[in-house]
Amino acid sequence: MIIVSSSESLRETLGDWRYSDEHIALVPTMGNLHNGHLSLVPLAREHAERVVVSIFVNPKQFTKGEDFEQYPRTLERDKRLLKKVKADLLFVPDVDTMYPFGLDNATSVTVPVMTSDFCGAYRPGHFDGVTSVVSRLFSIVQPDVAIFGQKDFQQQLVIRRMVEDLQLPLQIVLAPTIREGDGLALSSRNQYLSEKQRSVASTLYSLLAGIGKDLQAGKRNFEELEKHAMDALSSAGFDPEYIGIRRAENLETPDRDTDEIVVLAAARLGNARLIDNILVSI
Ligand code: AMP
Repeated sequence: MIIVSSSESLRETLGDWRYSDEHIALVPTMGNLHNGHLSLVPLAREHAERVVVSIFVNPKQFTKGEDFEQYPRTLERDKRLLKKVKADLLFVPDVDTMYPFGLDNATSVTVPVMTSDFCGAYRPGHFDGVTSVVSRLFSIVQPDVAIFGQKDFQQQLVIRRMVEDLQLPLQIVLAPTIREGDGLALSSRNQYLSEKQRSVASTLYSLLAGIGKDLQAGKRNFEELEKHAMDALSSAGFDPEYIGIRRAENLETPDRDTDEIVVLAAARLGNARLIDNILVSI
């Protein structure tokens, strides 16, 4: 596996691959890789001859008081894991490479409307940070395809919208959420959970799965279902932020004709902020 940290060396290698007519898939991450991240690499390989993984803990997407400083950084371990899953290239830029004019003078990319609700409401500026860094990665790497996890469903929708709106020439692929045996979605932030909190953490997924079953059984009292799950999260010891039953296509409120639903949730448990979602066809 080739490891580079400058855009220039990256471009050299990518240029060679393109010259040989090889397609390039990009898997953007913040590192501290787990099996969820690693599952994106073989999926990327199904779409391109070459797989580039980036690791960059993007300061712009952490809001004030969030865990930017504590975010786990485990580069040596990440390199070993990426070699095992046969990534071709690891791009590990520093802040100056990603933001050559400095964080305060950086051009910002904003996707309006669909960033105002859910995680956008609880993490103001977060999605601007995500779209600003992902658009930079897209222009540096110029991938044919980029892979994003369903776990961050709203993020994936926002990126799709950015790509469509800016008419960027690449395809976005959605990867399924990898879970622990009890249903908890793998996340770097799960390690902030105490043993006791870890034992209740999977309640988040169980409640989503319960709503999924209710929807498939024909229930359409969305607000009641959301409220019931919010109450259940509080009773289980979470500090819930939101549960939303929405149109998977654009996060708008579903109507009678909607057939693809996403049920999204975010809740705090101790020092961890957990998010999850499920897709339901009704
Ligand atoms: P992150 O490092 O948290 O920014 O995540 C990098 C990519 O991995 C994003 O596209 C995430 O959606 C994806 N990802 C994170 N957790 C999982 C998971 N449990 N299963 C599948 N993909 C995931």
